[in-house]
Amino acid sequence: MSQTQTKTQEILARDAEHHTGLWKPDVVFTHGDGVKLYDAEGREYLDCMAGIAVASIGHGNKRLARAVAEQAEKLIICSQAHANDARVRFYELLFSFVPPELGLTRVFMANSGSEVNEAALKWARAATGRRGFVAARRGFSGRTLGVLGLTWEPKYREPFAPSPYPVTFVGYNNVSELEAAVTDETAAVFLEPVQGEGGMHPATPEFLEAARALSRERGALLIMDEVQSGVGRTGKFLATEHYGVAPDMVTLAKGLGGGVPIGALLMTDEVARAMPPGGHGTTFGGNALASAAAAAVLEELRARGLIENAAEVGAYFQERLRALPAPQIRTVRGLGLMIGVEFKLKVAPIVAALRGAGVLVINAGATVIRFVPPLTITRAEVDEVVARLGRVLEAQAVNPA
Ligand SMILES: *Cc1c(COP(=O)(O)O)cnc(C)c1O
Repeated sequence: MSQTQTKTQEILARDAEHHTGLWKPDVVFTHGDGVKLYDAEGREYLDCMAGIAVASIGHGNKRLARAVAEQAEKLIICSQAHANDARVRFYELLFSFVPPELGLTRVFMANSGSEVNEAALKWARAATGRRGFVAARRGFSGRTLGVLGLTWEPKYREPFAPSPYPVTFVGYNNVSELEAAVTDETAAVFLEPVQGEGGMHPATPEFLEAARALSRERGALLIMDEVQSGVGRTGKFLATEHYGVAPDMVTLAKGLGGGVPIGALLMTDEVARAMPPGGHGTTFGGNALASAAAAAVLEELRARGLIENAAEVGAYFQERLRALPAPQIRTVRGLGLMIGVEFKLKVAPIVAALRGAGVLVINAGATVIRFVPPLTITRAEVDEVVARLGRVLEAQAVNPA
């Protein structure tokens, strides 16, 4: 038996001895190059999943690999309470991308999206002395117990209820529900400027403007969860920049380290001062290795014009998807390279067929396929992805799953 086993089967069997059963992997990836990803059988894929919007500068990026290797030889970690030269270099680069008019001048470093969202909740409580939060239906803020209360999906949230703080959910883009929900007990309104997991819905300008005005008027803060939309994905460094609103806090994570775990909570000076010294912290946050990786990502974005590429190629990608003569597609939406294609049917068979055709994507809910490729993707690669999707949909129209 073992002689006839493929490398994939052999690795999956070993994986299955120890994984928790949360997922049932059926493919093994071994390496990548730019937008391309390779499995253990040497098959090539165009990666429009990118570890869920994480591999922002592509796989196997030389600048990132070199930065990590060089930093690892010098210093990987010192306490968060001590400064390191890699961290300060990253801070300065980071704030060279954040528009000064937003007034976000301070940053707390952690290691993931959930972790920086958790930190934002604590800072909001410290700054307002209030306990309540307003979040959006279909919103996704992470899976750890602290932020789970803000994550809408009942399947994720309800088995672990109740939330340790009161949460009022409003319809996304519903201004009148927002008006009713923000009260003098609200610590913060917590929103994604483009909902990712919830189906790739961009906010309307009216909704974010109302969120800013109402929170300010009623003594609450506005927190933007840009864990997925941030770091250039939508064609601006922050998706919030498309809207001209200035939040009190912004969280970043997914694309920031190009795959190296890192999270950043940006805040105003006023919010920063609300937390007493020692009021929050984390062992690995701001470590030199992740800081060097994120600095390399930011340098690569700037050197190659990748934020501009996300805007241009993202618009082209959406245009090409809209031009597909596929009756199964209901609508195409998104911002930059954060694109959702909503279907009139469940997408799981399409996602599987696309993988068979060498295109890696992930769903965002039952009927939406999300395209979140590396920001390095070219028009030619987009053409190839859309052509393969067209062939898959044609085959499925003839022979529905
Ligand atoms: C992925 C995601 C999170 C959670 O980030 P983790 O790194 O998985 O903890 C939070 N908010 C948004 C908008 C996300 O897309």
